[in-house]
Amino acid sequence: MLIFTTVREIRHWLDRHADQRTIGFVPTMGALHEGHISLIEKSKLECSLTVCSIFVNPAQFNDARDLALYPRTYEADVTLLAESGTDLLFFPSVEEIYPHDFVPVNVDLGGLDLVMEGLHRPGHFAGVVRVVHRLLDIIRPNKLYMGQKDLQQFTIIRRMIEQLAMPVQLIICPIAREPHGLAMSSRNRRLSAEGRAKAGLIYQALLFGKTKKPTFSPPETMAACLEKLRQPGFNPEYFEIVDPETLQPVNQWPEAGRSCVACTAVWLEGVRLIDNEFY
Ligand code: AMP
Repeated sequence: MLIFTTVREIRHWLDRHADQRTIGFVPTMGALHEGHISLIEKSKLECSLTVCSIFVNPAQFNDARDLALYPRTYEADVTLLAESGTDLLFFPSVEEIYPHDFVPVNVDLGGLDLVMEGLHRPGHFAGVVRVVHRLLDIIRPNKLYMGQKDLQQFTIIRRMIEQLAMPVQLIICPIAREPHGLAMSSRNRRLSAEGRAKAGLIYQALLFGKTKKPTFSPPETMAACLEKLRQPGFNPEYFEIVDPETLQPVNQWPEAGRSCVACTAVWLEGVRLIDNEFY
């Protein structure tokens, strides 16, 4: 695996070697786990060159404490990526990504950024759009791999790609989970062993909501799931059942052939965990 830290070097290499190759790109913030590796594996199946980036993007952290505590495990990440067969790793500094003359892209997100995560993390999606656009501009991949785990992020990046008519195909990958159901996340490392075990409740609540579908309306299901999540130590921030395109709450279950998705954010041991499940 080749490792690049500057835009100039990785562009130079890609300009010389990427011709005729299908480039798959997996942007990450490091502290890699099996969820990230599942994206790499999908890229390896579909592309002839797989590029991963590790960049903890300050622009998307609305909470300075969250940024300071974000796990950084560079050595272990490099080992995992090399084992997974990643071809190139891009590991830039903040100055490389945001030079002094950097101009952020302007995208109308049509309100997709104002609900759920956007409501609770002001400015978060402006930061996500900024970094993903910049990374796509540098790597110029054919395919971009992102996880369903960050459903709202995926929806917003899809909108950005459509609106700017960017020549990249966005591929969504399923959520990798721990054996007891907790969605894998870099932030899980901040939980105690006990907290990590208890956190399976989040996925249980998402599945419980699904079982309520025949008898409860979406708002009733939301209320029942929030109740289920209000256990000692757990502080649910939201539980919403939304249309996956508009991210607006649904009041009725969709007709056959259409789906909706339950999304939740829950605080546990000072760590904010998100998850979702299609209903
Ligand atoms: P992050 O490093 O958290 O910014 O995540 C980088 C990419 O990996 C994003 O596209 C995430 O949606 C994806 N990802 C994170 N966790 C998981 C997971 N448990 N399963 C699948 N993809 C994931």
